[in-house]
Amino acid sequence: MQIFHRYTELLERLDAKGHSYQILGCAPDGQPLVCVRAGGDKTPAILISAGSHSTEQAGVSAAMELIDTLDTDHQVYIIPCRDPIGLNGFAYALSLSLGEVPQLADKEAAIELLRARGEILHEEEDLLVALIGEHGYFSRVRHGWSIEKAPALEPLRGRRVYCMAGSEKIEGSALLQRAYSLIVDPEGQILHINRFHDTAWAPVEARVTRDLMAQVEPALTLDLHEHGGDGFWFSARHQGTEVDQQWEQRMADAIIGAVEKAGVELMPDDYLPGSFFTKSRNSVYWLDPRKRGEGFNLSDFGAVTYGPAFTIETGMPMGFANRVAASVLAARTAIGVFEQRYL
Ligand SMILES: [Zn+2]
Repeated sequence: MQIFHRYTELLERLDAKGHSYQILGCAPDGQPLVCVRAGGDKTPAILISAGSHSTEQAGVSAAMELIDTLDTDHQVYIIPCRDPIGLNGFAYALSLSLGEVPQLADKEAAIELLRARGEILHEEEDLLVALIGEHGYFSRVRHGWSIEKAPALEPLRGRRVYCMAGSEKIEGSALLQRAYSLIVDPEGQILHINRFHDTAWAPVEARVTRDLMAQVEPALTLDLHEHGGDGFWFSARHQGTEVDQQWEQRMADAIIGAVEKAGVELMPDDYLPGSFFTKSRNSVYWLDPRKRGEGFNLSDFGAVTYGPAFTIETGMPMGFANRVAASVLAARTAIGVFEQRYL
Protein backbone atom coordinates (compact mmCIF):
# COMPACT_ATOMS: atom_id res chain seq x y z
CA MET A 1 0.00 0.00 0.00
CA GLN A 2 1.53 3.27 -1.13
CA ILE A 3 0.35 6.88 -1.09
CA PHE A 4 1.39 8.68 -4.25
CA HIS A 5 2.60 12.25 -3.77
CA ARG A 6 3.42 12.81 -7.44
CA TYR A 7 1.96 11.19 -10.51
CA THR A 8 5.48 10.38 -11.68
CA GLU A 9 5.79 8.13 -8.59
CA LEU A 10 2.77 6.19 -9.79
CA LEU A 11 4.25 5.75 -13.27
CA GLU A 12 7.60 4.74 -11.76
CA ARG A 13 5.90 2.15 -9.60
CA LEU A 14 4.17 0.67 -12.68
CA ASP A 15 7.56 0.47 -14.39
CA ALA A 16 9.24 -1.01 -11.32
CA LYS A 17 6.59 -3.75 -11.12
CA GLY A 18 6.96 -4.52 -14.81
CA HIS A 19 3.48 -3.34 -15.82
CA SER A 20 3.28 -1.86 -19.27
CA TYR A 21 0.62 0.68 -19.93
CA GLN A 22 -1.23 2.22 -22.79
CA ILE A 23 -1.29 6.04 -23.04
CA LEU A 24 -4.91 6.94 -23.65
CA GLY A 25 -4.21 10.64 -24.07
CA CYS A 26 -2.57 13.47 -22.19
CA ALA A 27 -3.82 15.79 -19.48
CA PRO A 28 -3.56 19.50 -20.40
CA ASP A 29 -0.07 19.68 -18.82
CA GLY A 30 1.15 16.80 -21.00
CA GLN A 31 1.14 14.06 -18.35
CA PRO A 32 -0.04 10.77 -19.83
CA LEU A 33 -3.44 9.35 -18.86
CA VAL A 34 -2.59 5.67 -18.63
CA CYS A 35 -4.46 2.40 -18.70
CA VAL A 36 -2.96 -0.86 -17.46
CA ARG A 37 -4.19 -4.18 -18.75
CA ALA A 38 -4.62 -6.84 -16.04
CA GLY A 39 -6.38 -10.19 -15.89
CA GLY A 40 -6.54 -12.70 -18.73
CA ASP A 41 -7.98 -12.65 -22.24
CA LYS A 42 -11.56 -13.68 -21.52
CA THR A 43 -14.39 -11.37 -22.50
CA PRO A 44 -16.47 -9.53 -21.55
CA ALA A 45 -14.05 -7.04 -20.11
CA ILE A 46 -14.00 -5.16 -16.81
CA LEU A 47 -13.11 -1.48 -16.38
CA ILE A 48 -11.71 -0.09 -13.12
CA SER A 49 -11.00 3.60 -12.65
CA ALA A 50 -9.97 5.90 -9.80
CA GLY A 51 -8.71 9.34 -8.98
CA SER A 52 -11.14 11.57 -10.89
CA HIS A 53 -11.50 13.45 -7.60
CA SER A 54 -7.96 14.06 -6.47
CA THR A 55 -8.72 14.25 -2.76
CA GLU A 56 -9.91 10.62 -2.89
CA GLN A 57 -6.48 9.02 -3.03
CA ALA A 58 -7.30 5.63 -1.45
CA GLY A 59 -9.07 4.78 -4.71
CA VAL A 60 -5.86 5.43 -6.63
CA SER A 61 -3.79 3.28 -4.28
CA ALA A 62 -6.48 0.56 -4.40
CA ALA A 63 -6.43 0.59 -8.22
CA MET A 64 -2.63 0.23 -8.11
CA GLU A 65 -2.94 -2.70 -5.71
CA LEU A 66 -5.50 -4.33 -7.99
CA ILE A 67 -3.09 -3.96 -10.91
CA ASP A 68 -0.51 -5.92 -8.89
CA THR A 69 -2.76 -8.57 -7.42
CA LEU A 70 -5.99 -9.07 -9.34
CA ASP A 71 -6.36 -12.65 -10.51
CA THR A 72 -9.10 -13.23 -13.05
CA ASP A 73 -9.41 -14.76 -16.51
CA HIS A 74 -11.34 -11.72 -17.69
CA GLN A 75 -9.70 -8.79 -19.42
CA VAL A 76 -9.36 -5.94 -16.95
CA TYR A 77 -8.57 -2.37 -17.95
CA ILE A 78 -7.45 -0.19 -15.07
CA ILE A 79 -7.09 3.60 -15.21
CA PRO A 80 -5.48 4.23 -11.81
CA CYS A 81 -5.64 8.02 -11.90
CA ARG A 82 -7.94 10.16 -13.98
CA ASP A 83 -6.59 13.49 -12.71
CA PRO A 84 -2.75 13.58 -12.67
CA ILE A 85 -2.67 17.38 -12.18
CA GLY A 86 -4.97 17.15 -9.17
CA LEU A 87 -2.87 14.38 -7.64
CA ASN A 88 0.24 16.57 -7.88
CA GLY A 89 -1.33 19.21 -5.67
CA PHE A 90 -2.17 22.88 -5.51
CA ALA A 91 1.38 24.25 -5.82
CA TYR A 92 1.87 22.12 -8.93
CA ALA A 93 -1.43 23.36 -10.37
CA LEU A 94 -0.21 26.93 -9.78
CA SER A 95 3.05 26.13 -11.56
CA LEU A 96 1.07 25.60 -14.76
CA SER A 97 0.42 29.35 -14.72
CA LEU A 98 3.49 30.65 -12.91
CA GLY A 99 6.15 28.61 -14.71
CA GLU A 100 7.63 27.39 -11.44
CA VAL A 101 6.34 25.55 -8.38
CA PRO A 102 5.73 28.09 -5.60
CA GLN A 103 6.57 27.31 -1.97
CA LEU A 104 3.31 27.44 -0.04
CA ALA A 105 3.56 27.24 3.73
CA ASP A 106 -0.18 27.21 4.29
CA LYS A 107 -3.55 28.29 2.94
CA GLU A 108 -2.93 31.94 3.86
CA ALA A 109 0.28 31.96 1.83
CA ALA A 110 -1.58 30.42 -1.11
CA ILE A 111 -4.31 33.07 -0.91
CA GLU A 112 -1.71 35.80 -0.70
CA LEU A 113 -0.10 34.45 -3.84
CA LEU A 114 -3.46 34.38 -5.68
CA ARG A 115 -3.94 38.04 -4.76
CA ALA A 116 -0.41 39.03 -5.74
CA ARG A 117 -0.25 37.20 -9.07
CA GLY A 118 -3.86 36.77 -10.14
CA GLU A 119 -6.71 38.77 -11.51
CA ILE A 120 -9.34 38.50 -8.77
CA LEU A 121 -12.70 37.73 -10.38
CA HIS A 122 -14.83 37.09 -7.34
CA GLU A 123 -14.57 37.23 -3.59
CA GLU A 124 -16.93 36.24 -0.82
CA GLU A 125 -16.48 35.15 2.82
CA ASP A 126 -14.30 32.06 2.39
CA LEU A 127 -13.94 31.91 -1.37
CA LEU A 128 -11.47 33.75 -3.54
CA VAL A 129 -11.49 33.22 -7.31
CA ALA A 130 -8.44 34.23 -9.32
CA LEU A 131 -7.41 33.89 -12.94
CA ILE A 132 -3.70 33.41 -13.52
CA GLY A 133 -2.45 32.67 -17.01
CA GLU A 134 -4.77 30.16 -18.61
CA HIS A 135 -6.21 28.75 -15.38
CA GLY A 136 -8.64 29.59 -12.65
CA TYR A 137 -7.91 29.04 -8.97
CA PHE A 138 -10.45 28.75 -6.14
CA SER A 139 -9.51 28.97 -2.48
CA ARG A 140 -11.92 26.08 -1.82
CA VAL A 141 -14.04 23.57 -3.72
CA ARG A 142 -17.38 24.91 -4.78
CA HIS A 143 -19.96 22.68 -6.47
CA GLY A 144 -23.20 23.63 -8.20
CA TRP A 145 -21.88 26.86 -9.62
CA SER A 146 -21.98 28.34 -13.11
CA ILE A 147 -21.22 31.52 -15.04
CA GLU A 148 -24.95 32.10 -15.25
CA LYS A 149 -25.11 32.26 -11.45
CA ALA A 150 -21.92 34.32 -11.18
CA PRO A 151 -21.38 36.44 -14.32
CA ALA A 152 -18.06 37.73 -12.92
CA LEU A 153 -16.64 34.30 -13.73
CA GLU A 154 -17.06 34.87 -17.49
CA PRO A 155 -13.24 35.01 -18.03
CA LEU A 156 -13.12 31.37 -16.84
CA ARG A 157 -15.38 30.05 -19.60
CA GLY A 158 -13.75 27.04 -21.25
CA ARG A 159 -10.93 26.95 -18.71
CA ARG A 160 -9.81 24.63 -15.94
CA VAL A 161 -10.11 25.63 -12.33
CA TYR A 162 -7.94 24.22 -9.55
CA CYS A 163 -9.27 24.38 -6.01
CA MET A 164 -7.40 24.29 -2.72
CA ALA A 165 -8.66 21.06 -1.25
CA GLY A 166 -8.18 18.55 1.49
CA SER A 167 -8.07 18.48 5.25
CA GLU A 168 -5.22 18.08 7.72
CA LYS A 169 -7.14 15.20 9.30
CA ILE A 170 -7.25 13.14 6.09
CA GLU A 171 -4.26 10.92 5.50
CA GLY A 172 -3.10 11.34 1.90
CA SER A 173 -5.11 14.49 1.26
CA ALA A 174 -3.96 17.19 3.62
CA LEU A 175 -4.85 20.75 2.63
CA LEU A 176 -2.97 21.81 -0.54
CA GLN A 177 -1.56 18.28 -0.92
CA ARG A 178 -4.05 17.86 -3.78
CA ALA A 179 -5.77 20.24 -6.17
CA TYR A 180 -9.43 19.55 -6.86
CA SER A 181 -10.06 20.09 -10.56
CA LEU A 182 -13.13 21.73 -12.01
CA ILE A 183 -13.93 22.43 -15.62
CA VAL A 184 -15.90 25.39 -16.92
CA ASP A 185 -17.57 24.09 -20.06
CA PRO A 186 -18.45 26.23 -23.10
CA GLU A 187 -21.96 26.70 -21.71
CA GLY A 188 -20.58 28.01 -18.45
CA GLN A 189 -21.44 25.03 -16.24
CA ILE A 190 -18.75 24.35 -13.65
CA LEU A 191 -18.40 20.62 -13.12
CA HIS A 192 -15.80 18.18 -11.82
CA ILE A 193 -13.86 15.58 -13.79
CA ASN A 194 -16.32 12.73 -13.17
CA ARG A 195 -18.90 14.35 -15.46
CA PHE A 196 -19.12 14.84 -19.26
CA HIS A 197 -19.17 11.10 -19.99
CA ASP A 198 -22.17 11.43 -22.29
CA THR A 199 -21.71 14.94 -23.66
CA ALA A 200 -20.48 15.97 -27.12
CA TRP A 201 -18.14 18.55 -25.59
CA ALA A 202 -16.02 16.84 -22.97
CA PRO A 203 -12.59 17.28 -21.41
CA VAL A 204 -9.84 14.88 -22.46
CA GLU A 205 -10.19 12.72 -19.33
CA ALA A 206 -13.80 11.84 -20.18
CA ARG A 207 -13.16 11.49 -23.91
CA VAL A 208 -10.32 8.99 -23.57
CA THR A 209 -12.32 6.92 -21.10
CA ARG A 210 -15.29 6.91 -23.46
CA ASP A 211 -13.04 5.83 -26.36
CA LEU A 212 -11.56 3.01 -24.30
CA MET A 213 -15.03 1.84 -23.27
CA ALA A 214 -16.19 1.82 -26.90
CA GLN A 215 -13.23 -0.43 -27.71
CA VAL A 216 -13.45 -2.90 -24.83
CA GLU A 217 -17.21 -2.74 -24.00
CA PRO A 218 -16.86 -3.33 -20.26
CA ALA A 219 -19.71 -5.46 -18.90
CA LEU A 220 -18.67 -4.32 -15.41
CA THR A 221 -17.46 -0.84 -14.48
CA LEU A 222 -16.03 -0.04 -11.05
CA ASP A 223 -15.14 3.54 -10.17
CA LEU A 224 -13.27 3.93 -6.88
CA HIS A 225 -14.16 7.06 -4.93
CA GLU A 226 -14.23 8.35 -1.37
CA HIS A 227 -16.43 10.64 0.68
CA GLY A 228 -16.00 12.78 3.77
CA GLY A 229 -18.17 10.69 6.10
CA ASP A 230 -17.12 7.85 8.36
CA GLY A 231 -18.39 4.70 6.69
CA PHE A 232 -18.37 2.72 3.47
CA TRP A 233 -21.10 2.89 0.84
CA PHE A 234 -21.58 2.38 -2.84
CA SER A 235 -24.01 3.30 -5.56
CA ALA A 236 -25.47 0.96 -8.15
CA ARG A 237 -27.73 1.78 -11.10
CA HIS A 238 -30.85 -0.06 -12.15
CA GLN A 239 -30.18 -1.98 -15.33
CA GLY A 240 -32.10 -2.00 -18.60
CA THR A 241 -32.56 -5.77 -18.78
CA GLU A 242 -33.81 -8.19 -16.17
CA VAL A 243 -30.75 -10.41 -16.37
CA ASP A 244 -28.36 -7.46 -15.97
CA GLN A 245 -30.45 -6.23 -13.06
CA GLN A 246 -30.30 -9.65 -11.35
CA TRP A 247 -26.53 -9.72 -11.62
CA GLU A 248 -26.17 -6.12 -10.51
CA GLN A 249 -28.26 -6.99 -7.45
CA ARG A 250 -26.20 -10.12 -6.82
CA MET A 251 -22.96 -8.15 -7.00
CA ALA A 252 -24.41 -5.45 -4.73
CA ASP A 253 -25.42 -8.06 -2.12
CA ALA A 254 -22.00 -9.72 -2.29
CA ILE A 255 -20.07 -6.43 -1.96
CA ILE A 256 -21.95 -5.24 1.10
CA GLY A 257 -21.83 -8.71 2.65
CA ALA A 258 -18.06 -8.97 2.23
CA VAL A 259 -17.37 -5.46 3.48
CA GLU A 260 -19.61 -5.88 6.51
CA LYS A 261 -18.02 -9.24 7.32
CA ALA A 262 -14.59 -7.60 7.20
CA GLY A 263 -15.76 -5.25 9.97
CA VAL A 264 -15.82 -2.10 7.88
CA GLU A 265 -18.12 0.56 9.27
CA LEU A 266 -21.27 1.10 7.19
CA MET A 267 -23.43 4.20 6.96
CA PRO A 268 -26.14 4.90 9.56
CA ASP A 269 -29.84 4.14 9.00
CA ASP A 270 -30.82 7.67 8.10
CA TYR A 271 -27.99 8.31 5.63
CA LEU A 272 -28.84 9.03 2.00
CA PRO A 273 -26.12 10.54 -0.23
CA GLY A 274 -28.63 12.72 -2.10
CA SER A 275 -32.27 13.05 -3.08
CA PHE A 276 -31.64 11.24 -6.37
CA PHE A 277 -30.66 8.02 -4.57
CA THR A 278 -32.91 5.27 -3.25
CA LYS A 279 -31.71 2.94 -0.54
CA SER A 280 -32.14 -0.83 -0.58
CA ARG A 281 -30.29 -1.28 2.70
CA ASN A 282 -27.69 0.67 4.66
CA SER A 283 -24.77 1.67 2.45
CA VAL A 284 -26.37 0.35 -0.77
CA TYR A 285 -27.88 3.16 -2.83
CA TRP A 286 -29.38 3.14 -6.29
CA LEU A 287 -28.66 6.24 -8.29
CA ASP A 288 -30.83 7.79 -10.97
CA PRO A 289 -28.54 10.23 -12.82
CA ARG A 290 -31.39 11.77 -14.76
CA LYS A 291 -32.87 13.02 -11.49
CA ARG A 292 -29.48 14.33 -10.38
CA GLY A 293 -28.71 16.31 -13.54
CA GLU A 294 -25.18 17.38 -14.64
CA GLY A 295 -25.08 14.58 -17.24
CA PHE A 296 -23.51 11.16 -16.69
CA ASN A 297 -20.55 10.21 -14.57
CA LEU A 298 -18.40 7.22 -15.50
CA SER A 299 -20.57 4.64 -13.73
CA ASP A 300 -23.80 6.19 -15.03
CA PHE A 301 -22.46 6.03 -18.57
CA GLY A 302 -21.10 2.49 -18.14
CA ALA A 303 -24.41 1.31 -16.65
CA VAL A 304 -26.57 2.76 -19.40
CA THR A 305 -24.26 1.72 -22.26
CA TYR A 306 -22.44 -1.48 -21.31
CA GLY A 307 -23.66 -3.23 -18.15
CA PRO A 308 -23.58 -3.16 -14.35
CA ALA A 309 -21.53 -0.37 -12.79
CA PHE A 310 -20.69 0.62 -9.24
CA THR A 311 -19.22 3.71 -7.66
CA ILE A 312 -17.42 2.62 -4.50
CA GLU A 313 -17.14 5.18 -1.70
CA THR A 314 -14.85 4.71 1.29
CA GLY A 315 -14.99 7.07 4.26
CA MET A 316 -11.92 9.30 4.33
CA PRO A 317 -11.61 9.44 8.14
CA MET A 318 -11.25 5.60 8.21
CA GLY A 319 -7.45 5.67 7.91
CA PHE A 320 -5.65 5.22 4.61
CA ALA A 321 -4.82 1.52 4.82
CA ASN A 322 -8.40 0.67 5.83
CA ARG A 323 -9.79 2.74 2.98
CA VAL A 324 -7.58 1.00 0.43
CA ALA A 325 -8.42 -2.43 1.86
CA ALA A 326 -12.18 -1.77 1.74
CA SER A 327 -11.99 -0.53 -1.84
CA VAL A 328 -9.90 -3.52 -2.96
CA LEU A 329 -12.26 -5.94 -1.19
CA ALA A 330 -15.33 -4.39 -2.83
CA ALA A 331 -13.77 -4.60 -6.30
CA ARG A 332 -12.57 -8.16 -5.83
CA THR A 333 -15.96 -9.27 -4.55
CA ALA A 334 -17.85 -7.73 -7.48
CA ILE A 335 -15.43 -9.38 -9.89
CA GLY A 336 -15.88 -12.74 -8.14
CA VAL A 337 -19.64 -12.60 -8.81
CA PHE A 338 -19.05 -11.31 -12.34
CA GLU A 339 -16.92 -14.41 -13.05
CA GLN A 340 -19.82 -16.63 -11.94
CA ARG A 341 -22.04 -15.03 -14.54
CA TYR A 342 -19.72 -15.96 -17.39
CA LEU A 343 -18.64 -19.46 -16.30
ZN1 LIG B 1 -15.48 11.09 -5.81
